[in-house]
Formats: sequence, structure tokens, C-alpha cells
Amino acid sequence: MSDPNHTSRRDFFRQAATLSAAAALSGSSSLAAQQAETASTGPYSTKGMAGYSPKGPLRPINFQRRALGPKDVAIRILYCGVCHSDIHTIHGDWGDVQYPLVVGHELAGKVIAAGSSVAKFGVGDRVAVGTMVDSCRHCAECLRGAENYCENGNTQIYGSKDPSGATTQGGYSTFIVVDEDFVLRVPNAIDLAEAAPLLCSGITTYSPLRHWSVGPGSKVAIAGLGGLGHVAVQFAAKTGADVTVITTSPEKEADARRFGAREVLINADGSAFAGHKRAFDFILDTIPYQHDLNKFIPLLRRDGTLCRVGVGKLTTPNEIGQMTTVLARTSIAGSNTGGVRETQEMLDLCALQNIRPQITRIPMTGVNDAWEKVIAKQARYRFVMDMTEES
Ligand SMILES: [Zn+2]
Ligand SMILES: [Zn+2]
Repeated sequence: MSDPNHTSRRDFFRQAATLSAAAALSGSSSLAAQQAETASTGPYSTKGMAGYSPKGPLRPINFQRRALGPKDVAIRILYCGVCHSDIHTIHGDWGDVQYPLVVGHELAGKVIAAGSSVAKFGVGDRVAVGTMVDSCRHCAECLRGAENYCENGNTQIYGSKDPSGATTQGGYSTFIVVDEDFVLRVPNAIDLAEAAPLLCSGITTYSPLRHWSVGPGSKVAIAGLGGLGHVAVQFAAKTGADVTVITTSPEKEADARRFGAREVLINADGSAFAGHKRAFDFILDTIPYQHDLNKFIPLLRRDGTLCRVGVGKLTTPNEIGQMTTVLARTSIAGSNTGGVRETQEMLDLCALQNIRPQITRIPMTGVNDAWEKVIAKQARYRFVMDMTEES
């Protein structure tokens, strides 16, 4: 007999799909009344913090968000998470960018205006936006709800070209205008500041754990306990999997256990790995810089998979030895965020299962200091810009 209090893998992920369907049916409770409110249709004067070069600090910028189109919602951004990807992007680690650039792809706030044919959102709704703001909508990936893998290239929230040819600008800013199809609803149970990081760190870790069917009986390692890793541990533990954290920071051990890890491996010189050969079915690798995968692959059981979600500088590729994957038929994989529908499922599940990032609130102007701490591995575990007081 199974323990009725135990959430089985199938139940954990099925719960998400059921929640999502129910939310889609219910829609916005007071949509008609809210849309009757008079709201400006923009363009919207916006304050932000922009990168002006690969090396210099972020500095304030004022710019305009586009006027409201029929399917657009205008959002007052109240919180934005600080992701290592933002830093890689401004530093040019992932290719050339056009400066000035406002980054930030974990934002949460409230709808201040909705276009004439917007169906899902009304003024006052609690919403969030992640890494994408549009996609082609007709390729096979878009049609199956995997806009994150759009074959024609989706429009990223920052650093992409929008239809007018302008460079998109991200969430380190006070307002944004987004097509409603790429806006997520934040369940009431989740504080908006805590919701923000889920839009990247949450979905980036949830999606692969789900895809590789992590659950009861799985032995899983989460490599790296940072912004992504600390949420990944919570997701994996809630599925009923046996979770180990691999970290270079011994002082994070107690936190790792608090998030749900049963075991912690300190990755100092690799000697801690010796007793864990062929121990794991799945390794979720969240480390956002170059590291030696040859040390990690032997930790996988036969047919196990190491999935990378952390990405370092493109000019410093990871290399693996000729025999590394052959000896136990192991795989190296990668995963990039998740689709819109899957992201909504993830948010609804976080509300129900009480999964939350651990955040430190900072003012908008505190972002340069926060970036230094992220690089020095001092974030515990996600900095979130609080823009509620910005005018
Ligand atoms: Zn991110
Ligand atoms: Zn597409």
C-alpha cells in the first residue's frame, strides 16, 4: 500500500496540469469591471538600470515603452530577480549586444492597462513575465506549447529585435508592455517579490526535472546551489526523489538540507566524488561557468543523464574525454526554460506545494553591488530588485 500522504511522481506533475486547466477556465474574476477603468494607453515613460558597456556599472536610463496594442497589457513592474544570465549578457559572454541594454527576465507586477481585445487579464491583476515576450506561433514547437524552442527564434525579453526593429529591453525597469499570450498569472498565495525568480530559476529547473521524470525512486544530484539550484532542490525533493546537492561552498550545507537535500557533496578537489560513482539517475547541472564535466559523468548510473541548465562563457567550452559517456551509456543534455503553459503550471504548483525562492530585496540602485555578490557566490539565494517606491 502506498502512503496516501506521499506525493508520487505522477501525482506531483499531474497536479500541475489540473491546476493549470482550472485556472484557464476561471479567467479573471472582475475583468469587465476592471477594464471599465480608465487607464492610459501609453507610450509609457519608464525608468531603468542599463548596461552601457561590457565592463562598466549599470547606470540609470529613461526610455519609452510602446503604446498599448489591442492584445497588449501594460504592466507596472514591482520586482525583478537578478539572474546570472543578465550578467553574462552585459559582459558579452554570450555574444555581442547592443548597448545601452536593460536586462532582467524575472519580473512581477500589476496590470495597469489592457488592450481592447485582451481576454485573459484586467487592470490590477498580479502578473509576471519571464525570458520570452513573443514567438513565431506557427512552427511545430510553438503549436505544441514549447515557445522556448521556437524553430524561428522567439523574441527574448531583452536583447532581441521586436517587430519594429527596436532592441527589446528587460525587467530592470518600472514598466513593460507585453502581448497577453506571454504574460503569466501569479497565484494569490505567492508574494510578488518571491514570484519573480520563479520566471527563470523556477521554470528552468522545473522543466527538465519533469521531462526526465524525476520522482520517487530517482536518485538525483543538483550541481550548484545558487539561484537555480536552491529552487531545483525543492522541486526535486517534492517529487519524492532522493536529492543530493553538489556545491563548492561548505557553508551552504545546512541550507541544502533545509531545501530538501538528503546528502551534500562538497566539490573541493573531487575526492568527495570517489564514493559516489554510478550513484545518480539524473544530475541537474546549474553551474553557470566552465567546469570539468569529466568529474561529474562517472557519478551517473548506466543510462543516466546530466542536464545542463547553467551556461558559462561561450568562448570557454566544456570538453569531455573520449570514453566519458561510453562506459555507462550516459548522456549529456541541456534544457532552456519552458513554454508559457508549462510556466503557468509551475507557478500554480509552487503556490500549492509551498515552493518559494529565498530572496534578498535590494533597491534598483543596489544592482551593481548585487552583481558583485552573485559573481562572488555570496547571493543567498536570489537578489530581487524592489521597485515599489520608484516613481
Ligand atoms: Zn535567468
Ligand atoms: Zn515558433
